Amino acid sequence: MQLKFYNSLARRVEPFEPLVPGKAGLYTCGPTVYNFAHIGNFRAYVFEDVLHRTLEYAGYALTHVMNLTDVDDKTIRGSRAAGVPLRDYTQTYKDAFFEDLRTLSVEPATVYPAATDHIPEMIALISRLVEKGVAYRAADGCVYFSVAKFPDYGRLAHLDFSGMRSGVRISNDEYAKDAVGDFALWKAWDEADGPVKWDSPWGPGRPGWHIECSAMSMKYLGESFDLHTGGIDNLFPHHENEIAQAEAATGRPFVRCWMHCAHLRVDGEKMSKSLGNFYTLRDLLAKGWTGREIRYVLVAGHYRQPLNFAFDALAAARTALSRIDEFTVRMEALAKGPAGQAPSAGSPEGQAPSWPNRHLEAFDAAISDDLNTPLALAAVFSLVNEGNRLAQDGRATPADAAAALAALARMDRVLAVLARPAAEVPADVRALADARAAARKAKDWAASDRIRDEIAALGWTVKDTKEGQRLAPAAAPRA
Ligand code: AMP
Ligand code: ZN
Repeated sequence: MQLKFYNSLARRVEPFEPLVPGKAGLYTCGPTVYNFAHIGNFRAYVFEDVLHRTLEYAGYALTHVMNLTDVDDKTIRGSRAAGVPLRDYTQTYKDAFFEDLRTLSVEPATVYPAATDHIPEMIALISRLVEKGVAYRAADGCVYFSVAKFPDYGRLAHLDFSGMRSGVRISNDEYAKDAVGDFALWKAWDEADGPVKWDSPWGPGRPGWHIECSAMSMKYLGESFDLHTGGIDNLFPHHENEIAQAEAATGRPFVRCWMHCAHLRVDGEKMSKSLGNFYTLRDLLAKGWTGREIRYVLVAGHYRQPLNFAFDALAAARTALSRIDEFTVRMEALAKGPAGQAPSAGSPEGQAPSWPNRHLEAFDAAISDDLNTPLALAAVFSLVNEGNRLAQDGRATPADAAAALAALARMDRVLAVLARPAAEVPADVRALADARAAARKAKDWAASDRIRDEIAALGWTVKDTKEGQRLAPAAAPRA
């Protein structure tokens, strides 16, 4: 399976050719853990998850590194405002982040290095840059990268900075293109940093945001590696600066392929904390949407197209997923059915049905072509439609149903939205179960049995165990 990706550096779709055959190294800029991530952030993490899963689907042995930015301007500001030590403050949001990733079925990265655990690596990298004369300590005590000393600066953003005034310095982690200048690698401690500081050859202070990613990516993936991703807002200055820091230090090409996802928008504007137009994952769960439905919305759009967030899209995801679930239930029932009936609709007797393969091939072609998830989902639905048609006509054998389910499971290795989730207990069933527990406590066995029947009428079974009642959905009805 030949994968092709749009490389922001080359500005075109290119075949993916890893440095080491059969292996892939991927670095994704992770969260700044100063708050709950919003679903705009999760657009980036879900896109990266589709990439992660596609690389594994295509057979690559993947090393995936995602950093946690647990020291920067925002985390320090947040911890000081909350009056909580930085480490405790960021831990809350690290925990929340991992919980949210599980909710969205995001496959874990190989390693999640935290910036505060890698200060020596950052100091070593800055020292190399100072020794090479591309970085300097200024009168304010900070160490800056001298953009004029790195002629390739602007190559990723496709900007020409050659006429730039030298000596302009910028110490904020985030800035716009027109504020470009020498950027901070090491920030001298000042009062606003409170107790947050580390010793360095340049005095007490802390690393800048950009150096974190150069140091941690090279530590885990080597000085040159295959893929580096983020949201499009990371392209400049963050990724431009990462390239400058790494390549100026090593003299080697840093990353072969840069991939960026377009923004999740609200009414035409980027969803962001600063604009206040955001929903966290938790906000949406509280409104009754599931992680699976939210993931569906995020994977249904192509990652390089801006995606407008709307509740209509969540409602449409719910409808689409219930169609897939109905199909799954139907095929599961058929697959269990009596074997040895009519031959498979799509293939000669005795052979595995081949018709699902057509849809699998369409799926593979779509996903390998720069992660075309909308087309990949179209292949899912063409499989569903064909399977439903066969079932409707009474021509689907157990082998057809089993092959359709296998194809669906294969597609789901990449999409991770198709599998029917273990059913959640609806509120009315939960209320009946509580009433039954009370009845049993009162030794009112007649009421207990009656309520059991009421629960069964709602499609659930209840078992009494040492730990209390266990609820499970009744066996799926036969199609
Ligand atoms: P941050 O925590 O702000 O560093 O962002 C974490 C990741 O989310 C980065 O890859 C950003 O580029 C990405 N991101 C932030 N806002 C959005 C958005 N509205 N749509 C897509 N990606 C975003
Ligand atoms: Zn980064």
